[in-house]
Amino acid sequence: MRFTVLTLFPEFFAGPLSCAQMARAREAGLIDVALVNPRDFSNNRHQHVDDRPYGGGPGMVMQPEPLASALATVPEPGRRIVLTPSGAPLTQALARELAQENALTLVCGRYEGIDERLLESEGLEPVCVGQAVLNGGEAAALCLMEAVARLVPGFMGKEESGFDESFSAGLIEYPHYTRPEVYQSLEVPETLRSGSHARIAKWRREASLLRTLERRPELLQEAPLDGADYNFLRAVEKPAALGRSLFLCLLHHPVLDKAGKPGTVSLTNLDIHDMCRVSRTYELAGVLLATPLEDQRELGQRLLTHWTDGAGGRANPDRAQALRLGRMVQGLDEAIGWVTGQAGRAPKVVATCARTSYRPGRSRKERLIAFTPVPTVRGWLREDPVLLVLGTGHGLAPAVLERADAIVSPVRGFSAYNHLPVRAAAAILVDRLLGDAL
Ligand code: SAH
Repeated sequence: MRFTVLTLFPEFFAGPLSCAQMARAREAGLIDVALVNPRDFSNNRHQHVDDRPYGGGPGMVMQPEPLASALATVPEPGRRIVLTPSGAPLTQALARELAQENALTLVCGRYEGIDERLLESEGLEPVCVGQAVLNGGEAAALCLMEAVARLVPGFMGKEESGFDESFSAGLIEYPHYTRPEVYQSLEVPETLRSGSHARIAKWRREASLLRTLERRPELLQEAPLDGADYNFLRAVEKPAALGRSLFLCLLHHPVLDKAGKPGTVSLTNLDIHDMCRVSRTYELAGVLLATPLEDQRELGQRLLTHWTDGAGGRANPDRAQALRLGRMVQGLDEAIGWVTGQAGRAPKVVATCARTSYRPGRSRKERLIAFTPVPTVRGWLREDPVLLVLGTGHGLAPAVLERADAIVSPVRGFSAYNHLPVRAAAAILVDRLLGDAL
């Protein structure tokens, strides 16, 4: 593998490339690194390679010409990459892909970055390392080179050792232990000393799943998992506190009608069933179904009773477990009061809204909503009860949005069509708040 690195600081690489495995791989001819300094290609008297940014702002921008001239001299460029915080993340999958190449060219930025036209005209692939800004692309290029080089056949002692590592199977790796057997009164797990390959493999898989769940839950979305993995994850005890602090409130008044006027909407059987079932699945504390209409409350109560203590509940005990979470109330105040009684503390009231502005009547100066990100609300759940308020009809009336402590970021969808059923919105928001969150 031949790496060509374009850098204003070739000396940066001296140490890292001349020790440990990278040095050995170079000696063995497995990798080869050529350093090219774009400053040598500056046609400026003072060898300048940067200038002030158009549009103003601090810092300098690297000019395209010296970099383009330097790139033109690379005899075997292979895939050409620019290291930049705005690039695609360097992942194990990308490293594996790049390791298939015979050559790679890495362009390192400095200062505020590189003139965008160089990236465009040369068709450079932007790649980012981590989610923090570094002084220059050199440290990032080094990360990329190490990640790729160790996947080049022959780099590692045992050919397969790269396949068992973190990220290889979409998960982070299990923990490692060596001698001594007891360190600071911490013992090496018994299974690892058992000598049973099957037990060790199972232990490692589960440790890997658990670590991923705890530290990088988002990776689980993409990891190839089998039934045993799902069963294991399902059985992992999550602190009940999170779901136990979350209450749903479905308001049927005051909600907006088609014309944007506040009014009252009738109960929907499906909403009641599905919101209770979602709440049972995610172990929520309760679902408040609010309507000021007495006959509607009676109707709702009959429905709940039928599916809990009545014939429906007897025939479907699973359904009864879910519907037992439902409770009819008159309105938001009663819902807040009930939650306060249950939780021993007043809840944070978090409204939901599919629109980005409210007060639709005031077209001249529409009020844009300042949304609260889902992770912030998840953070609240660790401290306080949260009442997530959802609206029927065309959404919660401004009066409700105004009195809420926050309006959580909406489910965005993929098009201008903005008519997600309320029970679907509830399911999505609950998963965003609680799914895989430990
Ligand atoms: N103003 C830029 C940061 C410039 S940092 C921004 O906010 O995006 C200067 C140079 O360092 C960049 O051009 C890039 O080459 C490199 N760099 C900094 N952080 C990096 C990272 N996390 N991954 C890859 N390259 C990075």
